[in-house]
Amino acid sequence: MKQPSTQSVNSPEARKSTQPSTQPAKASAATEKQPIMIAGAGPAGLFMGLCLAEKGFEVQIFEKRTELISDSRSLGIHPPSLRMLEKLGILNEFLKKGIEVPMGWAHDGRDLLGSIDFSGIDQKPSYILIHPQNETEKILKQAFIERMPNGIQYGTSIESFTDLESEIALEVRDHQHELRTYHTPILVACDGKNSTLREAAAISYEGLNYPDTYLMGDFPVVASDPKEPMVYITQEGLVESFPLPDGKRRWVVKTEEYIRNPKVEELSQIIKNRTHVTLEANHCSMISSFGVQHRKASKLQRNRLFLVGDAAHVVSPIGGQGMNLGWLGAWQLSEDLASMNLEVTGPLKITNYQRHFYATIKEVAKRAEWNMKMGRKSLFHRLKVQIIRLLLSTPLTAKFLAGRFTMSGLSFPKLP
Ligand SMILES: Cc1cc2nc3c(=O)[nH]c(=O)nc-3n(C[C@H](O)[C@H](O)[C@H](O)COP(=O)(O)OP(=O)(O)OC[C@H]3O[C@@H](n4cnc5c(N)ncnc54)[C@H](O)[C@@H]3O)c2cc1C
Repeated sequence: MKQPSTQSVNSPEARKSTQPSTQPAKASAATEKQPIMIAGAGPAGLFMGLCLAEKGFEVQIFEKRTELISDSRSLGIHPPSLRMLEKLGILNEFLKKGIEVPMGWAHDGRDLLGSIDFSGIDQKPSYILIHPQNETEKILKQAFIERMPNGIQYGTSIESFTDLESEIALEVRDHQHELRTYHTPILVACDGKNSTLREAAAISYEGLNYPDTYLMGDFPVVASDPKEPMVYITQEGLVESFPLPDGKRRWVVKTEEYIRNPKVEELSQIIKNRTHVTLEANHCSMISSFGVQHRKASKLQRNRLFLVGDAAHVVSPIGGQGMNLGWLGAWQLSEDLASMNLEVTGPLKITNYQRHFYATIKEVAKRAEWNMKMGRKSLFHRLKVQIIRLLLSTPLTAKFLAGRFTMSGLSFPKLP
């Protein structure tokens, strides 16, 4: 990736070397109103594109992949996101295949500890929707293309960009490996946790690797499975199980260390030891192991460049809120941009997204960390289990916990 270092950005040489008039017509017609440009058509980039299109902006997304992803990484869509999808007019599409989860169960491997009911939370809708990420991306892509028929270019990668103060010039390698220069008033980097745009802008990405490691796999439903999610807080460590579309369940177990080449038999044995549930190992359709990190970019905005989604933050996937957090950021940024004059000459003013979204990242990361800690082994396991039982059976604390699991009570952004 070419480095548009801060020194070169404002230098006369840099300006000269990226003069738009020498570039292909469509890409650089200086008099035309240029679209807002987005790097990446993952869930953050597509959602960002949709929010901007709803506000009347022209949008162009560049995606280096040529195909949609096939795996189901992110499953949970939380109430604030459901409200945004409703506002965008696409919630019904999600409800067609998604599984509405109004409650969950807690178990200690021997006995039920209680249930957690989302219907009493202070926001509507009051359920979590289970919807695999590959299906989510399909719907977002379709909705975006309906609004912006030529708005995504697949097989194209943003190679570098230069901040020209009043606009950004970017070099894009298209599917025929040709380099083209585009100009945009705003560039949104939704290019994932290894964001090369963030790196090129010299924005640091700080955080930590947690010691926690997990193994997960998808199995056909067995007779003892409830319809709802089940979280097992056992002496040997956490086990979670969630319903999936197509008669399957996703099982996640905490492991002592990262397992490089996971075996299905190993996973089903851990599940059996901790929960007494026997799964059909030969019907496991996906298995993978993962470690857990927390990262956040030191800046969300650098003049006309913005970081959104995993490019801006990564939180522990235990509790399943990372993608949702990216959507909240995208929503806020689209509100900010709609209220600003992007044609203004010179640098753009600091957005509310830059000013206030860190507090939301911090709060969501804290909640995800708490979920993870609850699943760790403890010397005081019996005491921990008694406390959980008590919290779940006391209406006030049960409501508080239900709120934390459903992304309630975040003070920013303000949603409709
Ligand atoms: C095991 C696991 C479970 C999870 N479960 C949940 C959950 O239940 N709920 C939840 O909310 N989150 C969950 N997450 C997190 C969620 O998957 C991520 O937060 C989400 O994928 C981030 O989306 P994104 O669009 O920011 O990045 P990505 O999905 O990484 O997309 C980035 C895109 O940018 C493209 N790209 C990169 N560089 C360029 C370039 N230079 N030019 C053009 N294109 C480029 C890439 O090809 C890619 O398509 C989970 C994550 C994991 C690992």
